[in-house]
Amino acid sequence: MQQTITVRTTKRREVLDITRQVMAVVTASKAKEGVCTVFARHATAALIINENADPGFRTDILSLLDKLIPEGVWEHDKVDDNAAAHLASTLLGTSQVIPLKDGRLLLGTWQGIALVELDGPREREIVVDVR
Ligand code: ZN
Repeated sequence: MQQTITVRTTKRREVLDITRQVMAVVTASKAKEGVCTVFARHATAALIINENADPGFRTDILSLLDKLIPEGVWEHDKVDDNAAAHLASTLLGTSQVIPLKDGRLLLGTWQGIALVELDGPREREIVVDVR
């Protein structure tokens, strides 16, 4: 089963927990065991699995990207002025795979699935594929 989740972001950069929306697709699929793939159909967004209880960690992700990737110094900035967003998306990745057991995502206690918006606000499409 495959379903696309639409997420409307509201800031230029933000980290949004989408675990519940992904879980809803898994539940609707009635799959018991297998894998759930989540995939962001975008070049300036990313998907991560990590700490989802502490909002400070979401800020840390964006701070890390600031430290790693300076803005305005890349070739693509001459064309589109958003190279840092593309590079961050490349580093973090646009997909994640989570195993299923007993119809549930096998996430650890502190793990959640988050969309990282890197050049918003925009409407983002996340493909959730359960098999
Ligand atoms: Zn661009």
